Amino acid sequence: MISVIDEKNCIDCGQCLKVCPSLNTPIGNSGDFEGYMCWNRDTIARINSSSGGVFSCLADYILERSGNIYGAAFDDNFSLIHMQIDSEESLPRLCGSKYIGSNLSGVYIKVKSDLENGKRVLFSGTPCQNAALKKFLSKDYEHLLTCDFLCHGVGSTKYFNDCLNYLEKKYASSIISISFRQKQHGYLKPTFEIRFANGKIYKEFYFLSIFGYFFRDKICNRTSCGSCKYATVERFSDFTMADYGCSDKHEQPLREIKKGISTLLVNTNKGRKVFKQLKNNLVYVERAKNFVISSSPYLQMQTSVSKDRRMFFHDYLALDFEELIAKYYSVSKKVKREMKYSGKWNGSPAQFLYKVFQKIYKM
Ligand SMILES: Cc1cc2nc3c(=O)[nH]c(=O)nc-3n(C[C@H](O)[C@H](O)[C@H](O)COP(=O)(O)OP(=O)(O)OC[C@H]3O[C@@H](n4cnc5c(N)ncnc54)[C@H](O)[C@@H]3O)c2cc1C
Repeated sequence: MISVIDEKNCIDCGQCLKVCPSLNTPIGNSGDFEGYMCWNRDTIARINSSSGGVFSCLADYILERSGNIYGAAFDDNFSLIHMQIDSEESLPRLCGSKYIGSNLSGVYIKVKSDLENGKRVLFSGTPCQNAALKKFLSKDYEHLLTCDFLCHGVGSTKYFNDCLNYLEKKYASSIISISFRQKQHGYLKPTFEIRFANGKIYKEFYFLSIFGYFFRDKICNRTSCGSCKYATVERFSDFTMADYGCSDKHEQPLREIKKGISTLLVNTNKGRKVFKQLKNNLVYVERAKNFVISSSPYLQMQTSVSKDRRMFFHDYLALDFEELIAKYYSVSKKVKREMKYSGKWNGSPAQFLYKVFQKIYKM
């Protein structure tokens, strides 16, 4: 993270240096977590989430107690901001992963003000955003609940915005909705979907999409994520959520895998108390701590940065966006077909035939 001080507005109080999560690490929970494989019993909430819908379960807990939730959502211009919500109707806006950095302008002040006024708050964000909140508040509040996730890093907002402009031009219409991880092909094969006002839809497997392709290979990601201090077992929030990545993932029933499965780390005593009250709304199985750690790379080390990133961004500055895409983005029909039919047999005759042909072809 690069800290830039706006000299014109600086009043020299030094507060930013005291609370900056890049310069000062808050005290974490020393890695003493309980690990669970789990999912939300509410199937609709689960389908509308990126993994098993654990976040929405936590959010319901706070909404039922008249609290406020802070999480990442698109505003009307499709800029990603941290938004405050206080109703069930607004919750879907926060659900689902958006793989770019969110703007937190003014949010920490609002969180503090809610807490000072005795409101319950759930803050959800990246590990570094949680650490920054902790530094900013500088004391614990009984009514504050926090959750982060295992983080691969965030993608470039500029690249994302240019993708949106490019697609608006291509589809000759304005965007009305964006979803990074739809589950129509199941949770393990997420689909990136953009809907346009003229009824057209851009739909592609996330990792083969114009954005996900470069995100997966860590080409369009922020370089600062490659030196993240918060990719560790020591956590700075009450809960840590993740895609269920343990080696027994494929042993779960296919119908459950398709809907999404989460890993949940319960990091603090406060988290443990709340988790007890969530248990009726979750399907959960405890997993040994070491098993969870060994299956979660971002509990052990930060994300990497692709060696191709420098060249990509060099060309990004030199070329038109269309030229950049033509040079770097190419996904063949064969690769798309392989993605479509990969994995456990899901009962589809087309997938069955594909697998048979593949076997014959290889013989
Ligand atoms: C940038 C990013 C990188 C991730 N990397 C990994 C990874 O490498 N491995 C892994 O196992 N899981 C990763 N996750 C977490 C995973 O995608 C799911 O978000 C998580 O498992 C929770 O799923 P859910 O179904 O419970 O909740 P969901 O309904 O999916 O809720 C997601 C929550 O994350 C918040 N959120 C979404 N986007 C952002 C954002 N850009 N910045 C801050 N907060 C956001 C939302 O406000 C919401 O609270 C990542 C998520 C993000 C946003």
